[in-house]
Amino acid sequence: MIDSNGIAQTFYEIETNSPEETFAFAKQMAEKAEPGDVITLDGDLGVGKTVFAQGIAEGLGITGAVNSPTFTILQIYEEGRLPLYHFDVYRIADPEEMDEIGYEDCFYGNGVTLIEWAQLIPEILPSSYRSVKIEKDLEKGFDYRKIIVKEIGGE
Ligand code: ADP
Ligand code: MG
Repeated sequence: MIDSNGIAQTFYEIETNSPEETFAFAKQMAEKAEPGDVITLDGDLGVGKTVFAQGIAEGLGITGAVNSPTFTILQIYEEGRLPLYHFDVYRIADPEEMDEIGYEDCFYGNGVTLIEWAQLIPEILPSSYRSVKIEKDLEKGFDYRKIIVKEIGGE
């Protein structure tokens, strides 16, 4: 599929009904991840971004606790199969802060980059990445989540 900007996109969605299912979905995504992969992660507060991030970490073989890096913007985990660069850009006021952190070494490095609240930094996202968006639908139950995955850009 080609979007209105002429950028190739493929798209699929899955539904989960428990945090364990969301965790397992993220885990199997991480097991297939390759060096340099960038995954953006968007969704409202309490939707399951941290659950998803923990699944990604587990799938990379990272054993330590992964929390919301809320006050640090970037947390790096190096004990897994690939390094994990876990960003939470919720509190970024100015994209220049990302330069100071050295985000390019992560986005264009040999690890897996996971960016929570990436919708806040569209101008510095790479030309190809995987977008993950988690949504609730309370009509379908309290634990229901729709996970929308899009492959943006690429060859
Ligand atoms: P966020 O990081 O997006 O603010 P969290 O991952 O911290 O959200 O919290 C998500 C909450 O929703 C957790 O309490 C989790 O147990 C709960 N939850 C219920 N159903 C699901 C589901 N299907 N997927 C993910 N989390 C779920
Ligand atoms: Mg969180």
